[in-house]
Amino acid sequence: MASISLPLSSQTAAKSTTSGQLVVFTAPSGVGKGTLLRRLLERYPDIQLSISATTRQPRPGEEHGKHYYFVSRPDFEAMVQQGQLLEWAEFAGNLYGTPRQPLDAMISQGNLVILEIELAGARQVRETLPEARQIFVLPPSLEELETRIRQRGQDSEAAIAKRLAKAQIEIEAAHEFDIQIINDDLEQATHELEKAVFTPAATKEGPPPLPPETQPPT
Ligand code: ADP
Ligand code: 5GP
Repeated sequence: MASISLPLSSQTAAKSTTSGQLVVFTAPSGVGKGTLLRRLLERYPDIQLSISATTRQPRPGEEHGKHYYFVSRPDFEAMVQQGQLLEWAEFAGNLYGTPRQPLDAMISQGNLVILEIELAGARQVRETLPEARQIFVLPPSLEELETRIRQRGQDSEAAIAKRLAKAQIEIEAAHEFDIQIINDDLEQATHELEKAVFTPAATKEGPPPLPPETQPPT
């Protein structure tokens, strides 16, 4: 049976001051979402990142249970069958999915949780959890995106081609998201991400209530 060991105690130790919120963070591979998230988490270490399951091979330096749960395809398929995943998708020949149970635990304990997932998964979450804020990060251009993927130096030519083809499709869907950020200047994009993550839920649920003294008479 598919099982992943979940370091729940470390995931739930720190709480955000924002109670139990889910943020979906999507961007074409290579745009710099890992870089942006690292910077955000350095500033706000209480933010929790959901750890996905994947059938992809670990890249150098990636650890099981920290960056991903690296599982075999049969184990991943068993997790799907057993309803263990909130969403899942195939990306560039590998399967990726969000384990439901640790996410539920983190949210019910009042944490701000980020799901860093691709477009098909973001669309599934939009259906099942429409209250989650959805953020999309764009590259300044496709040329710059290719430069960044190559600069990262972790993908074969075939993988680069697949990721660029997928990127074009994803970029066309950017408008579906609540907030779009262009990662051109890294500092500015980090600042915009900070604002997007911490903006009160007004964006999704209407404006916040007026303070009592300014309420219109009923
Ligand atoms: P992703 O997680 O989206 O696949 P990474 O965070 O690994 O992307 O970034 C891909 C490459 O682009 C890295 O070499 C990173 O240093 C670089 N990068 C990220 N953001 C910027 C930026 N604003 N300007 C220039 N290079 C960037
Ligand atoms: P990478 O192989 O570069 O780590 O990730 C490839 C793509 O898979 C990225 O766009 C990343 O956001 C996405 N991804 C990572 N985890 C998940 C997940 O749990 N679900 C979905 N749908 N996509 C994921």
